[in-house]
Amino acid sequence: MSGLVLSIVVPCYNEAPVLPETRKRLESLLRQLIDDQRIAARSRVWFVDDGSRDATWPLIHQASLAPESLVCGIKLSRNRGHQAALMAGLMTASGDVLVSVDADLQDDLSVIPQMLTDFAAGNEIVYAARRKRSSDTFFKRFSAEGYYKLLAALGVDVVFNHADYRLMSRRAIEAMRQYREPHLFLRALVPQLGYRSSVVEFDRAERFAGESKYPLRKMLAFAWDGITSFTAYPLRLITGIGLAISMLSLWAGVWALIVVLFTSRALPGWASTVIPVYFLGGVQLLGLGMIGEYVAKVFEATKQRPLYHVETITGPGVGPVIGP
Ligand code: UDP
Ligand code: MG
Repeated sequence: MSGLVLSIVVPCYNEAPVLPETRKRLESLLRQLIDDQRIAARSRVWFVDDGSRDATWPLIHQASLAPESLVCGIKLSRNRGHQAALMAGLMTASGDVLVSVDADLQDDLSVIPQMLTDFAAGNEIVYAARRKRSSDTFFKRFSAEGYYKLLAALGVDVVFNHADYRLMSRRAIEAMRQYREPHLFLRALVPQLGYRSSVVEFDRAERFAGESKYPLRKMLAFAWDGITSFTAYPLRLITGIGLAISMLSLWAGVWALIVVLFTSRALPGWASTVIPVYFLGGVQLLGLGMIGEYVAKVFEATKQRPLYHVETITGPGVGPVIGP
């Protein structure tokens, strides 16, 4: 019998339509792995309710009370977003290896045994990356792949087409506990840990039920966090642009002076006075805004606020149940 305790961590926000199916598939996967003696019988699925307003929490709670249940639940006090919910699950769940996966069954669960094999071969982190993006709209595919390339070009260490479906060892989880940043972008943070890792590939399916919890606005904010939390390149870019424009203005000034002093055409146009004023004003505002973005991040980081609050933990073998 294997003594390896596996925990599968699933953040859920208003996922009531898919939850019963997700639970069924994850429990049967765990049972299979337990029967095959690849993991210990104490392995569990940990659903994190990220302040859902639908029946997500009652479903999780009931599931955890069912006979022979393999389900544990963590309820956050309010909605904190996907990354914080995932962090809450990873920091709270017990187990020797933790696999994080979305609730909507888009991530192909059949690669989890392969992840365990990679772990057994000495990898502390196993990233699951999408082979192709055929289930995405053209816009999503184009923007997502372009974004991964942009991140790589800016020097941010990310695994191409990998989101948040990954396996982490207890050691990697404990290392991650030391990172206390308010703007989480886990897919770039985990590679920072530096432990030995591998990549398994899978094909991503359509959402099983319900709607995406990432509207364009949230997606853009998340993408922006990914850049500004991991690289100061945009600030440097602004400095570069500022420098280049200052040089150009200097050169233009010298030229204007030459025109005034040495030619008779000396009626410097309105445009040559006004355009640089506007242009430089624009560049300065851009630069200030950019600096402001980072200052705002520093401000939030210095407050050291907790990312989330756990309200309730429930499940077989997790000790006394807190709360309702
Ligand atoms: N999610 C969450 N809190 C949020 C938004 C999303 O816990 O505020 C969860 C959601 O339930 C799902 C995962 O994060 O399990 C990914 O969300 P979704 O599938 O909607 O994103 P997409 O696949 O469309 O990018
Ligand atoms: Mg999804």
